[in-house]
Amino acid sequence: MDHFLYRNGQLYAEDVPVSEIAAAVGTPVYIYSTATLLRHFRLFDEALDWGPHLVCYAMKAASNQAILKTLAAAGAGMDVVSGGEYARALAAGVPGERIVFSGVGKTRDEIRTALEGGIRQFNIESEPEMRAISEVASALGVVAPVTVRVNPDVDARTHAKIATGKSENKFGIPIAKARQVYAEAAALPGLKVVGIDVHIGSQLTELDPFALAYRKVAELTEALRADGHEISRLDLGGGLGIPYTRSNEAPPLPVEYGRLIERELGHLGCEIEIEPGRLIAGNAGILVSEVIYVKEGEGRNFLILDAAMNDLIRPAMYDAHHDIIPVVEPEPGCEQEPYDIVGPVCETGDTFAKARLMPALRAGGLVAFRSAGAYGAVMASEYNTRALIPEVLVKDDQFAVIRQRPSFEDIINRDSLPEWL
Ligand SMILES: *Cc1c(COP(=O)(O)O)cnc(C)c1O
Repeated sequence: MDHFLYRNGQLYAEDVPVSEIAAAVGTPVYIYSTATLLRHFRLFDEALDWGPHLVCYAMKAASNQAILKTLAAAGAGMDVVSGGEYARALAAGVPGERIVFSGVGKTRDEIRTALEGGIRQFNIESEPEMRAISEVASALGVVAPVTVRVNPDVDARTHAKIATGKSENKFGIPIAKARQVYAEAAALPGLKVVGIDVHIGSQLTELDPFALAYRKVAELTEALRADGHEISRLDLGGGLGIPYTRSNEAPPLPVEYGRLIERELGHLGCEIEIEPGRLIAGNAGILVSEVIYVKEGEGRNFLILDAAMNDLIRPAMYDAHHDIIPVVEPEPGCEQEPYDIVGPVCETGDTFAKARLMPALRAGGLVAFRSAGAYGAVMASEYNTRALIPEVLVKDDQFAVIRQRPSFEDIINRDSLPEWL
């Protein structure tokens, strides 16, 4: 459920007509709904109410300061994957004790910054990284709380580019090797083992892969405890999928996911951490774009939009489907025509949808890409010197620009010329 619905023939973001925002801010524009963000966060929080837990929003999904502040105020922790994200989380007022640091290539600088600023835990992804954290912590005279990310070798049955839990992926250490790595962690100075971490992929639309992975995590917990390690936290990563189409997809709900976690891991008495990104932000954001031209091609018509692959790369990168709907509500039962929906960038990959059935649209009409809140704005680039598009946050009947569209002058002035030019 989200808060982008038709009302009086118009698409609304909560209580604000989308066309009003487009007129005020211009297009293309990302629009987020506060109520949807909070609703999704609370669904997870409540799903884990059976025990101690912390929901750490995976901020790589959408990391605008206003989004972070909204979630942090509701009690969310943050999952960060870079020094930049760590700085963003602190700037949004999230205390270090609520920030977990994931990612396969933490640099010594990033490790130092997090140790100095406070960190709940590092999720270690490899032995060399574990030794680096030990060295940096020892040099600072502090102790780094750590988990080791284990790779349970389960098939997440999701798109190959976002599956992370198979043995051939670069993530974590093989679960079979975990006892050896934990033994080294316990022996190294400057580290304190606090738990186990696992994250098997993104956009999972079934629960079975989670169940398989968590069964292995439960066994490992017992084995590591028997070896004398204190395992008090289980970080289960993110990955729960969202419906990208209204029609036929029904991924499991957070409440069902919470029950699965309780069933597989509840008896261990650990604090549960989860790191959802997509499910919190995905359906809390839309991308609104204007039709520039309707072009009649051979055997097909093109809708040429003012949004392009640089603004939303998911269709080009992951073959992702986004529902695209007119901002003016179509008459019920109106005629639909197939369109190829494309952007203006000089790449064939700049295609959002092929032969998509849409009500007849004219130049100047507005469309909204649904489910664009996660891995949308954060993956945007200025390819073709197209300015990063603005972001707007809606709350009830108010809206605010939370990231301005830069001017061409801003963009050009970011370059600097060498002396000889
Ligand atoms: C990407 C990522 C997440 C978030 O995944 P979603 O599918 O967006 O929920 C969580 N944890 C880690 C380690 C990640 O890399």
